[in-house]
Amino acid sequence: MSLRVYNTLSGKKEEFQPLVPGKVGMYVCGVTVYDFCHIGHARANIVFDIVYRYLQYSNYDVTYVRNYTDVDDKIINRANQQGISSKQLAEEFIQAFDEDMEALGLRKPTHEPKATEYIDRIIVLAKQLIEKGMAYESAGDVYYSVEKFPTYLKLSKRNMEEMQAGARIAPGEQKRNPMDFALWKAAKPGEPSWESPWGPGRPGWHIECSAMSSALLGETFDIHGGGRDLIFPHHENEIAQSEGISGKPFVKYWLHNGFVNINQEKMSKSLGNFFTIRDILKSYNPEVVRFFILTAHYRSPVDFSDQNLKEAQAGLSRFYEALQLAAEAVEGVPESEVAAQEGAELEAQFRAAMDDDFNTAQAIGHLFEGVRTINRLVAEKKFRKKADKVASVRALREKIAELGDVLGLFVSDPAGWLKQQNLKGLQALGLTETDLDAAIQERLEARGNKDFARADQIRDELVQKGIELLDSPAGTTWKIK
Ligand code: ZN
Repeated sequence: MSLRVYNTLSGKKEEFQPLVPGKVGMYVCGVTVYDFCHIGHARANIVFDIVYRYLQYSNYDVTYVRNYTDVDDKIINRANQQGISSKQLAEEFIQAFDEDMEALGLRKPTHEPKATEYIDRIIVLAKQLIEKGMAYESAGDVYYSVEKFPTYLKLSKRNMEEMQAGARIAPGEQKRNPMDFALWKAAKPGEPSWESPWGPGRPGWHIECSAMSSALLGETFDIHGGGRDLIFPHHENEIAQSEGISGKPFVKYWLHNGFVNINQEKMSKSLGNFFTIRDILKSYNPEVVRFFILTAHYRSPVDFSDQNLKEAQAGLSRFYEALQLAAEAVEGVPESEVAAQEGAELEAQFRAAMDDDFNTAQAIGHLFEGVRTINRLVAEKKFRKKADKVASVRALREKIAELGDVLGLFVSDPAGWLKQQNLKGLQALGLTETDLDAAIQERLEARGNKDFARADQIRDELVQKGIELLDSPAGTTWKIK
């Protein structure tokens, strides 16, 4: 089976055939750098990181471009509030974004251009659109004339008349049609500005993506991604600009990820249910966030809640427990000649799920089956003497780690992960490792004195608190249930 992707433009799944066999050009709209990123940004960036990773895993040579919007009203307003320059504010939040994405384990895109590095090109594109009669100058602003682009709204499938009826021209804007959008804005006092044929000004938002994508990927490229909220007006306007200039299709496949709801409500600052990545990473390992995001299909909405993150944490720990169990179970058993099919089978299932429009939820489900098989095999009597079973566990363990890497998961050392989770759990119970060591020691002494009632009492008290003791010939260890 080959890769199929859901294309917002056609409204259906299509076979993925890049323009140049073996190569993929992909552009994803980046963040406007005026504040810390929230969980919605985390989702969009993780989703397209997975697309990037899976295409690379499928042997495509991918050129991935993700921009920074570093000139915008929000940046200007925030910078003015703080009494610093827009440039300074943007640089601060570019750095913060990079730190967050690194923490979340994202692969670096091939190019990360900034809008302000492409001002000359933006001016050239706006001039071309004016020359073609598709844009017009008006009091130092330049507007795109949407009526001149017959297929406007083909991506969002909105109705032009309905939209026009609801549209208003803002005071100070001298547009011919309320739906027309700015390619260039005349500078207001105190704003950063660049010289242009229309006087000093700065670009509108949409034109920067047409400028950066065509410079780095050409007039037509394979994949354009972003959150659903960007379909209109941003992506619609990118199409109008780019196709208006080139007369060629702008993008072959449009991919959009779904929203993040917070406790089943839309996330917004005014509702106070707004979480930055930094806030979340104070309580959760970044891999938990990634696992949580990937257990849903990228086009579905996800519901972010403490409960759902806790479940993701528990789910991820089950993988680490199985990986650790498998490592211990096969340790010291010599490699045999027995070939195991399980690894290849698991990979085929994983690929089939991912080839179906990057269905990470299903792919993780298949990996989970691998975990169950490991647990079942290792629990068999005299497991270590059964060469075929040992080979199966080895194959599954290696394959789960390899496929996990495609998703950016299971990247920690299993023993270290489990220890960390246990210590966190202990902390939540208000206990320390020293308390637990003392209890284990006391139980050991009680047993030595044949005071089994006391030994059992200690164990039962811990069980009631949610701590399980595991006795083995090597001694007693514990885990959070
Ligand atoms: Zn864009």
